[in-house]
Amino acid sequence: MEIKLGNKKLILKIGDITEENTDAIVNAANPTLLGGGGVDGAIHRKGGSKILEECKKIRKEQYPDGLPFGEAVITTGGNLKARYVIHTVGPICDRGVLDTEKTKLLSNAYKNSLLLADRLHLKSVAFPSISTGAYRCPLDDASKVALKTILDLLPKLKNVETVIFTLFTKDIYNVYSKNLKELIKDR
Ligand code: ADP
Repeated sequence: MEIKLGNKKLILKIGDITEENTDAIVNAANPTLLGGGGVDGAIHRKGGSKILEECKKIRKEQYPDGLPFGEAVITTGGNLKARYVIHTVGPICDRGVLDTEKTKLLSNAYKNSLLLADRLHLKSVAFPSISTGAYRCPLDDASKVALKTILDLLPKLKNVETVIFTLFTKDIYNVYSKNLKELIKDR
């Protein structure tokens, strides 16, 4: 589904984010920035070693202790169609609960990724469903936080015009589209 927000667009689709040809795709990374499973592994596999090299440089020069939860950094897209990869770290929901603190961290992950894209004059950004895989945050709650954050921020940005949620399965897509319909009804 696709909605218009003034001259901006928010799109939900089912797909593999490593195939997106947006200016940037967002990686649901972990604090090490050295790769992992899920979408992180897929991005590094397809994007090639340039991405990892830049991640190592960022660790060394900016974040020797790892990228904090909710923050975002940018590297080349390497061999991907996207020019850049924005790496962010969402919260870990140990007991499957998205409490107030984790809600804030998840919102910050989306917000800081999008602000970074806007600062670099990027026009289109694709997000995965951050923290809802290995990090075990509940999909229904996490998708509401993701959508609300984008709906609030996107209209205020100067450069980013299109945000895509590239969701890996039909089940994930269904939850996001149900919640997006609810959220825009209230606006
Ligand atoms: P996290 O550690 O933040 O939970 P995961 O990668 O484990 O990150 O999962 C986040 C989401 O990314 C999950 O919904 C998972 O299904 C999805 N995912 C995994 N691979 C891809 C891919 N290639 N494209 C888009 N989404 C993906």
